[in-house]
Amino acid sequence: MKLSIQEIIEATKGKLIKGDISDFVYGISTDSRSIKSNELFIPLVGEKFNGHDFIESVAKIGVSAVLTSQKVEDDLSGYERLSIIKVKDTLKALQDIAKYYISKFNIPIIGVTGSTGKTSTKEMIYSVLSKKYKVLKNKGNLNNHIGLPLTVFELEEDHELAIFEMGMSGFGEIDLLASIVKPDVAVITNIGLSHVEHLGSQENILKSKMEITNYFDEESTLIVNGDDPLLKTLEDIDTDYYQYFIGTEENCHYQAVNIKNLGEYGIRFDMFINDKFYPFTLNVLGEHNIYNALCAIAIGLKFNMDIELIQEGIKEFKGSKMRLHIFTTNENIKVINDAYNASPDSMTAAIHVLSKMRNRKIAVLGDMLEMGEYAKDGHYKVGCELAKNSIDILIAVGTNAEYIAKGAIENKLDNDRVYTCKKNEEAIDLLKSILQKEDVVLVKGSRGMRMEEIVQYIQERS
Ligand code: ATP
Ligand code: MG
Repeated sequence: MKLSIQEIIEATKGKLIKGDISDFVYGISTDSRSIKSNELFIPLVGEKFNGHDFIESVAKIGVSAVLTSQKVEDDLSGYERLSIIKVKDTLKALQDIAKYYISKFNIPIIGVTGSTGKTSTKEMIYSVLSKKYKVLKNKGNLNNHIGLPLTVFELEEDHELAIFEMGMSGFGEIDLLASIVKPDVAVITNIGLSHVEHLGSQENILKSKMEITNYFDEESTLIVNGDDPLLKTLEDIDTDYYQYFIGTEENCHYQAVNIKNLGEYGIRFDMFINDKFYPFTLNVLGEHNIYNALCAIAIGLKFNMDIELIQEGIKEFKGSKMRLHIFTTNENIKVINDAYNASPDSMTAAIHVLSKMRNRKIAVLGDMLEMGEYAKDGHYKVGCELAKNSIDILIAVGTNAEYIAKGAIENKLDNDRVYTCKKNEEAIDLLKSILQKEDVVLVKGSRGMRMEEIVQYIQERS
């Protein structure tokens, strides 16, 4: 990437304190530890650190320019080639530069939001589109007001498409992200209960996700899950953009039929495209991935890809390590590692995956966090779901463990097969005495619960 100091000043409405407007920066970073010479340093002000404290150290590295919203105390006059630009707010400047930079590229932009499955859907779309196009995607989960603009700076001239995951926890956040990248195609995966604590109701969650369409024109496309009760209500609304529904229900534009769940061997389904049924194979667990795949198929078709290439892209999708990742230990214990995160929807999805497995089924479930007043109910329902899906043993961990246990026991999972613990170490101690060869263990909980500690124990024992 290359931007002139002049362009940065215009994009940020900043003021040049020192330097030369005809100089260039060849990259942008907010991290003084990884920034390279000739880049622009944007110091962010966080709770623990103030990036402004590192201006002198990046000047030493030889950066071309720094932004600042504070008075620069250090004497930087010795750094002759360094430009210093004063802005009101460095975070807003980061976003403004991203907005300017992306506007220089005339390529289709895809935005993905929703309560669960954003990263999975983004990766699935990438798996398909990258079979034909050079595609930029955000790395991992860089989906917020900082990660998204930083991803924008990775755009290069030969990129033909870009996909951005967009996360949020309240009103206005998706609007901000959408205002930066202005998606031409937007996906809303589903409307669940994540962040209901901040937003009050599922209707409000829907409204906040719909902000992804705020910068649409009549050529833009919204793709949503037609099996989702709230997203389905969009059918009744007239839009001046294209709107497509994906799902298993008949009125969906992109409908998966003849679904066969082959447990650990993946999932097959067919889709009717141009008067013909085409088979698709998913080599990942979890029927919810059908929705993610349908979004990717719809987008592949929209961008004129041959169906055979789309089929390959779907088949080659591997998923990631802590999202329903299955592996077998030396003791022949099968572990379903879904420790990355948890919400009521993804808990249910994971329980359904476990229920499809043979042998004794153990669920080690940690708290779902950020659920506010829904916490008690949400955890209770997970317990109900477990019992209804014939899971053999429950080990619930955390402050809400008792509600999961209650839901399970009240739905007839034997009392002596239900365990509650406060901490992961207790759960590990329990597993020491309970685990047997050939068991299948699902491990899942919110990020803050660090359930990967339990996965690691099972992996390393024997
Ligand atoms: P985050 O808010 O942390 O960024 P995310 O929306 O990106 O989460 P993923 O990381 O893709 O979601 O998946 C989170 C969990 O949801 C995983 O456990 C995954 O198995 C499950 N999941 C993936 N896709 C779906 C879907 N379409 N519906 C329900 N659950 C899903
Ligand atoms: Mg994500």
